[in-house]
Amino acid sequence: MSILLKQLSKIRIELLKKVQGQIKNIRQKNILQQVKIQLTKIKEKTQNLKVQQKAYNFTTRLRDSVRKKIPVIKNNLQSFSKKINLKSPKGIVAVCLVAVVLVTVLSLASTFTYAVAVCVNGNQVGYAFDQHQAESLVELALAKYGEDLGVITKTDDQITYEKVWVKKKEYQANLVNDSSLLAAITPYVEAYGLTVDGKVLAVLSSEQEIDKVLNDFKDHITNPSETNKIISAEFVQNIAKEKVKANITEIKTASAVLDMLIEGEVTTVDYTVEKNDSLWAIARKHNMYTQEILDANPDITEESVLQPGQVLKLCTVEPYITVSYTGERVVKEVIPFDVQTKTDYNLASGKRVVKQYGKDGEKEVTFTYTAENDKIVEKTVIKEDILSKPVAQVIAQGPVRQAVTVATSRGSGSISGMAWPLSGRITSYYGYRRSGFHSGIDINGSVGQPYYAAADGKVISAGWYGNYGRMLLIDHGNGVATRYAHSSQLLVSVGSTVKKGQTIGYVGLTGRTTGPHLHFEVIINGSTVNPLNYIR
Ligand SMILES: [Zn+2]
Repeated sequence: MSILLKQLSKIRIELLKKVQGQIKNIRQKNILQQVKIQLTKIKEKTQNLKVQQKAYNFTTRLRDSVRKKIPVIKNNLQSFSKKINLKSPKGIVAVCLVAVVLVTVLSLASTFTYAVAVCVNGNQVGYAFDQHQAESLVELALAKYGEDLGVITKTDDQITYEKVWVKKKEYQANLVNDSSLLAAITPYVEAYGLTVDGKVLAVLSSEQEIDKVLNDFKDHITNPSETNKIISAEFVQNIAKEKVKANITEIKTASAVLDMLIEGEVTTVDYTVEKNDSLWAIARKHNMYTQEILDANPDITEESVLQPGQVLKLCTVEPYITVSYTGERVVKEVIPFDVQTKTDYNLASGKRVVKQYGKDGEKEVTFTYTAENDKIVEKTVIKEDILSKPVAQVIAQGPVRQAVTVATSRGSGSISGMAWPLSGRITSYYGYRRSGFHSGIDINGSVGQPYYAAADGKVISAGWYGNYGRMLLIDHGNGVATRYAHSSQLLVSVGSTVKKGQTIGYVGLTGRTTGPHLHFEVIINGSTVNPLNYIR
């Protein structure tokens, strides 16, 4: 085409030169003036896009035929210029009009172009050189989008391509690219849903990703090791995989889904306080710790008085998936040393002197168990190997003051089958510790957790006792008493009769303590003994 244009341009210049050379009289000059005016009018008209389009279509047809017949046209033009009598005014006008057409063609060809408009669901996104290029760009944009997740993205959108005649400037300013295409196209991915009891819980990119999440979750829950052999493990819920069409933003990574499974489903419900409700009563009703209620309701404290009708937020965490498993575990357990206290009347009242320091023993316990997520539901000890025997601690003690022991009963000191007042980890044993003599055991718990009477008895002391904080002392008869310290709340008072296993108070932080726990003592005839020898 450029060859033709050059050719035409050359011819046009030659023609114009000839025209000017022929102007010899005023009449001819006037005609030339008329031609110039017409030329300007045509130029003005061509500002109109439709005219330009028509002109372009005309020239395109001309161009296409010229492509095939350049030599023929060249000859025709040459013969045309020869035929025209340049001396006649008609000839001059004809030549000038040809020149005008040529000038228009040239200017149109340089400011307009053919392109392909890309439309998504009927809305134009931009232009591409041709349909082939446009299709490749769409394909590339979708491929690049899925690349990060290693998946192939597709789209259900209607993408159409339309050949258009457009200003070069507009074409260049609106070329389609990845971002303009992806802003208009909604890509989807063929992915897999992890379903729990038929409900899609999460969408992952492949079946393998789901298998990985499930295996990792099972491992996280069962925690297999050399000392924890897992015999069987299965999901309680019906877990399946399902092919789904997903928006790419819905797809989660295996590690994100694993985190979600580990965290569990947190739901918040409103609870309306009833008459005679307390923080502890609400916690009991919902199988929660009071601390969990306080965490969800920052505007209240343990000391707040709840009003009937008041609305509290209760957060509960439910696992999405439950793993039921059985295993065999080997653990090392401390065998607490015994403390033998002997009254020495040469010592001042309440004074204690260690005659022999005690030393904890150690045993290896093998047990089989059945568990659901983090809760052991059944446990059977199958073997106990003593690795080292404990050494008893011998203490000489001055005569005991009545004030310390209160009015506990006196007797043989025999009692059988005392129950654990609270189930939990023992954080401090009976006897001499780094911090001094520890007259009981500390059982780890949470504020608001209920604890129970170790045996039937009668409350002989209930209230605030210095370092013990809120404390209960229960006389079981026969010279046996038990003490429960650091309570957040006491549920019985002096004179109350209690039954073994009865809820008598709530774990707390009162008195001298660094964390919520139950300090539990067993007192025989006024002297504390190692509670672990009495409870089972
Ligand atoms: Zn303690």
